[in-house]
Amino acid sequence: PRLSASDVVEAIKSRDIKFVDIQFTDVPGRLQHFTVPSDAVVDGGMTSGLSKVDGSSIRGFLDISESDAVAMPDPSTFAVVPWRSSAARMIADVYMGGSHRLERDPRHVAQSAEAYLKDALGYSWSFWGPEMEFFIFDGVNWWSSEWEAGYRIDSSEGSWRRDGQGYKIRYKEGYYPVEPQDTLANVRDDIALTLQETFNVDVEAHHHEVATGGQCEVDMVYDTLTRMADNVMTLKYVAKNVAAKHGKIATFMPKPLYGDNASGMHVHVSLWGEGSNPGSAYNAFYDQDDQYAEISQTGRYFIGGLLDHAPSLAAIVAPTTNSYKRLVPGYEAPVYLTWGKSNRSAAVRVPSYYRGAAYSAAKRVEFRVPDPSSNPYLTFAAMLLAGIDGVRRKMDPGDPVDENVYHMSPQRKRQLGIRSLPGSLHDSLEALKSDKEYLKPVFDGSLLDAIIENGERELLAVESRPHPYEFHLYFDA
Ligand code: GLU
Ligand code: MG
Ligand code: MG
Repeated sequence: PRLSASDVVEAIKSRDIKFVDIQFTDVPGRLQHFTVPSDAVVDGGMTSGLSKVDGSSIRGFLDISESDAVAMPDPSTFAVVPWRSSAARMIADVYMGGSHRLERDPRHVAQSAEAYLKDALGYSWSFWGPEMEFFIFDGVNWWSSEWEAGYRIDSSEGSWRRDGQGYKIRYKEGYYPVEPQDTLANVRDDIALTLQETFNVDVEAHHHEVATGGQCEVDMVYDTLTRMADNVMTLKYVAKNVAAKHGKIATFMPKPLYGDNASGMHVHVSLWGEGSNPGSAYNAFYDQDDQYAEISQTGRYFIGGLLDHAPSLAAIVAPTTNSYKRLVPGYEAPVYLTWGKSNRSAAVRVPSYYRGAAYSAAKRVEFRVPDPSSNPYLTFAAMLLAGIDGVRRKMDPGDPVDENVYHMSPQRKRQLGIRSLPGSLHDSLEALKSDKEYLKPVFDGSLLDAIIENGERELLAVESRPHPYEFHLYFDA
């Protein structure tokens, strides 16, 4: 169960916990922490906060001149960390000098987006369900030898993984042979069990994904925006540590292997209103009379907002140079700014295979552009703002496209007016520079500047280095 502040104090005492780990997320999306003796939490830390944060050392947070920040732990995220000797963790909100929230704290952005939904459209809740894809590699010498092997992967040759047994998952056939081919089933069981039993995160399913080299997917049960972003950070924390316990390494880098599927983080979302009396909450995306996919006009406008803003959104939801190595044709990743029911080449899908009592509740929009290298607080908030803008300005997403757009001729694409996603981080950052008004109600201007500066720094860092493949192409020049 999720705890209150007094429950936390009680749990620390009754379980004799020695340390409390305070966690928060930097702007690029890495989980950060510092540890205090549990007395600091028991003696007032839950109400006055803990002041060990040097904001100037955290990417995207503060300048050196205004570096002191305070972390206010959220008791509902309390969990005893199984791989520490005697430490519990809590995720915290970051404040600066006195009682005002740090505008650039991603968790603040997520909470503000939830409040803005109510102000802008009157809906009380949004529900979020990301599909987390990631790779688990053998830990040994991974960085040097297997990474290079990744470059040499040849699609005709199949798996390059040294898995110590004769069975191999063939190229693009990871989805889903049983064990012993699926050597990671037990690791995923452990990840799911740790999430459920220790961190209060409910798992809906887990499975091997399409790529040959240990690609996994773990899906969590939907939750509200900030809570689900917390859950994504928790899932990464758990997956990396459980993999390490098994002598392996988990990575959420989108495209570690050339020539095989990459890892996405498709995000499912629906908006909910309270209705006129208690118990009459309703899914604003459901309309039983819609002939195409039982999707409401509000849902269509939301899709219109996502598609219209997709090029600038990409800078937030697919924020790394590596993200654009995923967004290419042929690997079930989206490239085209279209929507449809079951089209995996499209940026937006409206899943429509649910029947029965939960049918209207399950109606939702799936945005396929995000990947797991993004900061989930910022990704969900930016998606919500794009969708809200679509609803407010009645943006028509056009007709759905059910053809495989990967296979469409350039003429046909032009005829249908199909736009593409940006092909590089450079292009999405340029799009963000010229399309950010819709984010302003929630994203502080200085936060957007920090996102753009960070992206440009990484772009330059990657582009100015000789690439291994350049040696293959040019060393004999
Ligand atoms: N791995 C694919 C991607 O990069 C998605 C596969 C799927 O549809 O689950 O988005
Ligand atoms: Mg998947
Ligand atoms: Mg999906």
